[in-house]
Amino acid sequence: MEINRIIQNKKSSVSHLEPDYPLLTSIRDRKTMFIDYSSIKTYFCKKIDIKSTMSTNRTFTMIKPDAVANGHIGSIINDITNAGFKIIALKYTKLTDETAGQFYAVHAERPFYKDLVSFMSSGPIVAAILEKDNAIEDFRKLIGATNPAEAAEGTIRQKYAKSIDANAVHGSDSDENAEIEGNFFFKADERF
Ligand code: UDP
Ligand code: MG
Repeated sequence: MEINRIIQNKKSSVSHLEPDYPLLTSIRDRKTMFIDYSSIKTYFCKKIDIKSTMSTNRTFTMIKPDAVANGHIGSIINDITNAGFKIIALKYTKLTDETAGQFYAVHAERPFYKDLVSFMSSGPIVAAILEKDNAIEDFRKLIGATNPAEAAEGTIRQKYAKSIDANAVHGSDSDENAEIEGNFFFKADERF
């Protein structure tokens, strides 16, 4: 197949690079077959100590099916904008088993993966790219711990989530993942 040939060529041309090189990671796990050029750009900007123009102040979030079903879309967006995040892209949509599986491929080996995939495709979600200084860290603080029982007072998960699996919101854990996750949902002309 053409795609296999392209990947094989790419693999041999980058095999001398370090193990965290994003294209190699994509090839190695073979779960994500698309090549994410923006994360590759971030990688090289980091290596030569240039601040990437495409990330560092952006994160990606989803309002998960539980929070949508419980009528919390408006309140959560309100909390997010009140905390100083600017909405760069926004979409009301629904994942399939297949797209949820791809999005969470990084968790494929974890025991909750199957349940997570079926939960995330069980109803509509809201996806968004957000912008703020120190976006990744500040947004993780705003949403609180993965388990809402452990989430700090006033955090989104403490206020709107009921369990560790149905925990109201997703938040990216790094600049690289924010870029990959944003690209999963949004084209360039859907960002403002
Ligand atoms: N999750 C779960 N059981 C667990 C841990 C996580 O169902 O024991 C789900 C939960 O929805 C969580 C998602 O898997 O938000 C991703 O897990 P991660 O460890 O990345 O937590 P997060 O970054 O969302 O806080
Ligand atoms: Mg995570």
